Amino acid sequence: MNFVSTRNNAPAVSLSQAIAAGLAPDGGLYVPEALPAPRTLAPADSLARTATTLLTPFFAGDALEPELAAICEQAFDFPAPLQPLATPGDHVLELFHGPTAAFKDFGARFLAGSLARLPRADARPLTIVVATSGDTGAAVAAAFHRQPGLRVLVLYPDGRVSPRQAHQLGCLGDNIRALRVAGAFDDCQAMAKQALGDVELQAHVPLSSANSISLGRLLPQMSYYAHAAIGHHARTGRKLNFVIPTGNLGNAMAAILARGLSVPLGRIVLATNANRVLPDYFGGDEYRPQPTVATLANAMDVGAPSNFERLRWLYRGDDAALRAAFTSQGVDDGEIRDTIRERYQRHGEVFCPHTATAVRVLERLRASGQAASGEDWAVAATAHPAKFESVVEPLIGRELEVPPALAALLRRPAHAEPCQPSFAELRDRLVNWA
Ligand SMILES: *Cc1c(COP(=O)(O)O)cnc(C)c1O
Repeated sequence: MNFVSTRNNAPAVSLSQAIAAGLAPDGGLYVPEALPAPRTLAPADSLARTATTLLTPFFAGDALEPELAAICEQAFDFPAPLQPLATPGDHVLELFHGPTAAFKDFGARFLAGSLARLPRADARPLTIVVATSGDTGAAVAAAFHRQPGLRVLVLYPDGRVSPRQAHQLGCLGDNIRALRVAGAFDDCQAMAKQALGDVELQAHVPLSSANSISLGRLLPQMSYYAHAAIGHHARTGRKLNFVIPTGNLGNAMAAILARGLSVPLGRIVLATNANRVLPDYFGGDEYRPQPTVATLANAMDVGAPSNFERLRWLYRGDDAALRAAFTSQGVDDGEIRDTIRERYQRHGEVFCPHTATAVRVLERLRASGQAASGEDWAVAATAHPAKFESVVEPLIGRELEVPPALAALLRRPAHAEPCQPSFAELRDRLVNWA
């Protein structure tokens, strides 16, 4: 299968090429030339096996095709269980059982496995540059740790990620370096972008990115939706509807693609925090990127969702059809707090601030009858609450147990190098990496 740019102004490439490049040369995002025919998926299959079956047509003819099953076995070696909530018909799909306790572990591990297996003419290591406000960098660093031929430079805004997040970024060592930048996330992102766009620098140090537009992260994320929906359908005969906490639309886009492959998914509703670009657009406004607002669900603090261009491509630019296909609702910080507090008091359920946005949206859908009583719904639980203990613990009035994989990371000593928000300094670190 070939992949083309959403902007139609770049040559078609193979999947390996699209994964290695990240962005298309015309500035667009890579998308499959056509959606493959629906696959027959077996409900009893493991998550890894479901992933392999679902992804096979995308890898057809590619250099990575013979490696796909092995990449899936490694990336999907922890579970994504669908658990019932106290409210009848409602569920959570727990996507936080990986090494850094967030759903991004699945995509990051798949991307790392793919890049590690790609044949490269260059004998020098490939350096992944990531700017992060927390979760992405942690997932990428853990996924690429000790992968042969690859190394990672993470840039994060000093003092603006949680202490636990900072620890996860700095504790790996080996082929992973963390720079704590004296600036904001936007400074980190600008530095990373400048490095990735610098042809002269890349002649010295081959660079690549690992952000949420990468097909190597997006495509595998279809697997857990497919696995959950097929299992649920086999048990109940009913489709599973989803509310998905959304920032850059990477996770939700994967669910939308999976539904496009005839996975028995019903409606897909996009929950955002106070960053309202998507609720405003789906409510009928023009698509208008906005400055980012800082919220308690900080991994969703996005003013211009990077995968929106893929969503428009899927609907051939037809805004009316797109608005008819999905709804989106925003949840502010006060409601995030109320949801975390109330669900714990009433039902003993604990959610991270991101997951809480979707829980609140599902509560609204149930209360208004938009989610009918016979329908089954699930919320994508994107991170473990213990990752955001400084928000969650005061609201529920007790300490949270840290999941074992995350606890193992937190036991390692951590070190991050200070860095000025200057491209010259980043460049220097890259060129002089011993
Ligand atoms: C990244 C992230 C999100 C948002 O996912 P997108 O793919 O950017 O929409 C939601 N919750 C958590 C915990 C995240 O880390």
